[in-house]
Amino acid sequence: MATEGHKYIFVMGGVMSGVGKGIAASSMGLILQERGHKVNLIKIDPYLNVDAGTMNPTEHGEVFVLRSGLETDQDMGNYERFLGRDLTPEDYMTSGMVYQSVIARERALEYGGKCIEAIPHVRDEILRRIEAAAAHNGSNISVIEVGGTVGDFQNALFIEAARVLRLQHPDDVLYVMVSYLPVPGTLGEMKTKPTQSAVRELNSYGVQPDFIIARSAGSMDEKRKEKLAIWCNVRPDRIISAPDVESIYDVPLNFENDNFGDLLLDALDLPAQAHPDMQKWRTFVESIKNEREEVTIGIVGKYFDTGDFVLSDAYLSVIEALKFSGAALGVKPKIEWVNAKDFEKGTEVEILSKYDGIIVPGGFGETGIEGKLKAIRYAREQGIPYFGLCYGMQLMVVEYARNVLGLEGAHTVEINPNAPHPVVDVMPEQVALIREGKYGGTMRLGSYEARLEKGTIAHAAYGVEAIEERHRHRYEINPDYVEKIKEAGLVFSGVSPDGILMEIAELPQEKHPFYLGTQFHPELQARPLAPHPLFTAFLRASLKKRAS
Ligand code: GLN
Repeated sequence: MATEGHKYIFVMGGVMSGVGKGIAASSMGLILQERGHKVNLIKIDPYLNVDAGTMNPTEHGEVFVLRSGLETDQDMGNYERFLGRDLTPEDYMTSGMVYQSVIARERALEYGGKCIEAIPHVRDEILRRIEAAAAHNGSNISVIEVGGTVGDFQNALFIEAARVLRLQHPDDVLYVMVSYLPVPGTLGEMKTKPTQSAVRELNSYGVQPDFIIARSAGSMDEKRKEKLAIWCNVRPDRIISAPDVESIYDVPLNFENDNFGDLLLDALDLPAQAHPDMQKWRTFVESIKNEREEVTIGIVGKYFDTGDFVLSDAYLSVIEALKFSGAALGVKPKIEWVNAKDFEKGTEVEILSKYDGIIVPGGFGETGIEGKLKAIRYAREQGIPYFGLCYGMQLMVVEYARNVLGLEGAHTVEINPNAPHPVVDVMPEQVALIREGKYGGTMRLGSYEARLEKGTIAHAAYGVEAIEERHRHRYEINPDYVEKIKEAGLVFSGVSPDGILMEIAELPQEKHPFYLGTQFHPELQARPLAPHPLFTAFLRASLKKRAS
């Protein structure tokens, strides 16, 4: 049963995908939270994957790992960054998850011999999950983003659940459609027809939107608003113009300008419990837009090329983490993508010498690996600030073993299972999982504690002795090599509480201004108003490098 008085806002997309439904939902969450309400954001992904962990980041963007370890869609990262807090597994669902629980219950005879059908059983499982999230989080408003676009076959059951929830709670459910108004080049005029059709399509499910967020290149004029209002059957003041903006973090401020928060509370019959001033957020947004000194950061990775364009979505949280630390330091990180494959043939000096800092982010598999190792060596030898994230830390140890310890053929067993020096080895608990092909959701995932060693860069940056960070890996620094590596000068400044897992590696500051890698993904916990200390320390070092 639903929590008494809980409110639900469904956000659904019309016309086309990729117009910023996730940012709209995140921004609604923030402006409601700023009005004193406790909001949770839920993402529904209609695909059949049980979680986002098995999807290729080039096609689907980054896999965002929650504190609990659930591998989710990158929108969840935006939700956490806008709300400024951790979300829980209850806040995420895929069709795969929904079907998996229905089928498991059927196998356990829990449906008492009934024929199991999409409606009511699957729909009711969706409703159960939405209500469980509401109850679990102690929130009073849930903003629920239905992935995909109205009319997709695969989100029909979710829209059906949204319809039924309003039937059960007539005063507690709102529907918001995020639509798009194109301006065809040949006409130069904003067209409302696709939105009218999308609303009609939604109507065919028995759902009438209460609000329309009209995304477009420019602002909407009154004439267009009136037209949409009449044709779509929505009050004109509930049509929110959402023009393209310089930064996604502008969106909640624009919503504020249109008084969207008050309009939502009014429609939900809720009072504002706090007066929003959004001052901190405003200051943050201004600081990322101000003219500032630039630091050029090269990100050496492989998930870039999908046809003709670069898909930086694969590293979304890394980019955002750099932005937040840049805002805090008053510098502008200028990110350049370096395809590791490009300098496997020996062009690395030319390409890398222009960077003030180099990042090797998380990754899997063999593509571009020797190129990444070259980049790491170059950064180490030339004193360029280097920040390795997960794979970027493992490869830092491989490079160190090969070129400083002189261990020929040192490698990670992920790439060479027969390496003469397996300095990065599979974690013991992973061996059987890999052998049995159990890949989904089985990595070392989510938040784990690490202890920091005093007198290190890591300890100075965090300023505490114990930290918790989010992980996603199957391999680790081989404990058999740890002593040898330490003797050769690399410091393991963060280790798991039992001392077995090396969580942070760094070179002492006398030897290198900033040469540090983490087995975890610090980018996942960076927030606009709480930048991550390691990203800030890395950027500070990069800034110094630029000045020298
Ligand atoms: N492929 C490495 C592992 O599984 C690193 C993973 C990552 O970078 N997220 O351990």
